[in-house]
Amino acid sequence: MGKKVLAAVAVGEKETALREFELPDISSEEGILRVEIVGICGTDVSYYRHFQEPKILGHHVIGYIEKIGEIASKKWGLKEGDRVAMEEYIPCGQCKACRTGAYRSCTFTDPRSGGIRYGTVPISMSPSLWGGFSQYMYLHPNSVLHKMAEHVPAVEAALTLPLANGFEWMSIEGKVTTGQVVAIYGPGQQGLACGLAAKAAGATVIMIGRSSSLRRLTLAQELGMDYIINTTTDDLYSSIEQITNGRMADVVLDVTSGGTAPITDSINIAKKGGTVLLGAYKYQAIPDWDIDTVIKKTLTLKGVRGHSFESVQMATELIAAGRFPLSLLNSHNYGLDQVDLALKTAGGEGEPAPLLVTVTP
Ligand SMILES: [Zn+2]
Ligand SMILES: [Zn+2]
Repeated sequence: MGKKVLAAVAVGEKETALREFELPDISSEEGILRVEIVGICGTDVSYYRHFQEPKILGHHVIGYIEKIGEIASKKWGLKEGDRVAMEEYIPCGQCKACRTGAYRSCTFTDPRSGGIRYGTVPISMSPSLWGGFSQYMYLHPNSVLHKMAEHVPAVEAALTLPLANGFEWMSIEGKVTTGQVVAIYGPGQQGLACGLAAKAAGATVIMIGRSSSLRRLTLAQELGMDYIINTTTDDLYSSIEQITNGRMADVVLDVTSGGTAPITDSINIAKKGGTVLLGAYKYQAIPDWDIDTVIKKTLTLKGVRGHSFESVQMATELIAAGRFPLSLLNSHNYGLDQVDLALKTAGGEGEPAPLLVTVTP
């Protein structure tokens, strides 16, 4: 008999249950990860609410290589006992997106050979252990892994993927550089991670939120952001005008969930020739949108999504450098038997004031 693995499986709408699985045997191209910590992402909460098939959720995973095949070890440059941050993508490696480095947009769809993501694959697909809310995970031959420094506290390592998005959207897509003013609308986990990436790039960062997110705005200051604007009490446009001496923001990012007003606001507070990045789905149209402003101000309007190998590297390096007090972002940590509460808390329906919610299996 093989070793048993305990995992929290999403089994219905807003319901998970602990199940036991066999630890699979691996080929020379595969591996097994012992999960150390998992950060909860908005995507996990969305799957939890809109149940499809039984699956193990969780895809912002930090862990230790428990077993590794000979070929996998050479390909990944890793050995048993190494600590790693995992990307959620399992790219096919062959399609045009993969061949040009944009494997987050992999277009291949045969789940056996890639084009899938950890935390989204049903347990009906062997060997079931495709999600982070589990003691162990299966490492597919096409897994994308990054070494994580040993000295980094687990709750900080759990921020790797949100920070990677931050570097991707700020430094790579937004081309943020020293001396620029970056305004970020939405001080949640993703907004704060983007703020940190912009600070690391040398920018002045303005974090924008409402009275309901006052605690997060205060936290933004503790993390080193330069200015905060509370749109419930302050006028956004004149505040930005004042901070920038009338120049307005070089780069604006919207990562608010909910309404579309922050998008029009973002366009208004961007400088002429500035860049507006959109990083949060709205699932609705923008009413009476004056698109001419984009032309008048010669703005670059760009949708941003996910991360690249390079941005994950940047994130692991920033975390290892210990430059920011990242552990301030961790609001709640739960065990494997509390995954339901963890997902509810991350989605604003459990314990109060969530930010980075983690699970330690
Ligand atoms: Zn995610
Ligand atoms: Zn591909």
